[in-house]
Amino acid sequence: MIRYNKNIVKKDIFMKTALITGASRGIGRAIAETLAKEGYNIVINYNKSENEAKILLSQLEKITGAICVKADVSDYYEVERMVEEAEKRFGAVTHLVCNAGISARGLLDSMDKCQCDNVIDTNLKGVIYTVKAVVPSMLKRKSGAIVNVSSIWGKTGASCEAVYSASKAGVIAFTEAMAKELGPSGIRVNAVCPGCIETDMMKKEGFSDEELKALADCAALSRTGRPEEVAAAVSFLLSDKASFVTGQALTVDGGFI
Ligand code: NAD
Repeated sequence: MIRYNKNIVKKDIFMKTALITGASRGIGRAIAETLAKEGYNIVINYNKSENEAKILLSQLEKITGAICVKADVSDYYEVERMVEEAEKRFGAVTHLVCNAGISARGLLDSMDKCQCDNVIDTNLKGVIYTVKAVVPSMLKRKSGAIVNVSSIWGKTGASCEAVYSASKAGVIAFTEAMAKELGPSGIRVNAVCPGCIETDMMKKEGFSDEELKALADCAALSRTGRPEEVAAAVSFLLSDKASFVTGQALTVDGGFI
């Protein structure tokens, strides 16, 4: 499904356009808001949270060109269609943020096949499919910037989040490999590795207030992070200020690891 404001005229075609997966809430939403203020056209991808996506769309349409596209990033063909919709509307996706992700907390023993598959399909295959769909038009233009959202657990591994950690470590390796593959074509690929950020994901993981405080105390800054703080790092990595930065996994964790 595609929605857009017909009042935004075609002059926004070929401007900077950022596609952000899982943009309806949390870190993805903060990234969409930050980039919209910086003048990017925004493609808001969502899977289930249509209402939240529509609310964000109406907010962003006041300041830039924006559309919402429903797609499950773990579905190869839905991702292809999402990118086609974005390119049809804005001419090209010049910047990509692979943010959509799910968590699964528990001992490996307690996770069934379906839970394992969902985490890998969404967090790792979702990134691979989205990058694969966006890259052909970046190659034609010999420019583009991509940021994949990994996690500190992709760098160090977390007990009771083994499959999640594996998926996020895969994102870092994929980022490094794609940076090498696409660098000669003028396309930069980086990752961010957030620490504990206050979003629905943290709430859903069922941390008690005590556990959250203990996690916060593990960071050098003695607090959890805000989605806007991850968005600022993503904005930097997408921008020309990072024109000589590629293949990096930037930790944004207040000094947690
Ligand atoms: P969140 O649950 O608030 O948001 C995740 C978003 O991804 C939601 O909009 C959700 O609808 C979307 N999504 C999930 N599955 C999808 C699918 N199959 N297709 C399309 N969209 C899908 O979580 P968040 O904290 O904002 O997480 C954003 C990213 O940051 C995730 O990749 C997460 O792993 C990563 N991260 C979060 C934290 C944290 O502490 N919150 C820490 C490290 C990394």
